[in-house]
Amino acid sequence: MEVKQQISEDTKKEKFYCKKCRKKIGGHNQYLHDGMCDDCFFGIYFPEEQKEKLIEKLKLSWEKYWKLQSNFLANTEKLENEMNEKLSLGIELEFFHCDGEVVGIGAKSYSEREKFPLIHDSELNKK
Ligand SMILES: [Zn+2]
Repeated sequence: MEVKQQISEDTKKEKFYCKKCRKKIGGHNQYLHDGMCDDCFFGIYFPEEQKEKLIEKLKLSWEKYWKLQSNFLANTEKLENEMNEKLSLGIELEFFHCDGEVVGIGAKSYSEREKFPLIHDSELNKK
């Protein structure tokens, strides 16, 4: 008897989960959004609208992000040019970029690489 009562109370709490991604949802979504969370529902029924919403959210930070990145790249290029012009190394430097960072500096020209070997970032970062 007590067990039956407990089960009946549990079903009254009515916990719903998005049928697509299993995220917890409320009764509104269960009955009016085809049993899906907002993201899944709008993604299926109004994909363009959903994308527009995402773009609007991203745009708030994107301009700042884009400016930061542009400034970083411009400053990096400026410093690379300065190093080439001012260090009097007798060669033109090549900065080897990989995955968004410089992993080494070497000679731009293949013929000069024997007298100026590739120097890795780890060697330059040694203290
Ligand atoms: Zn979902």
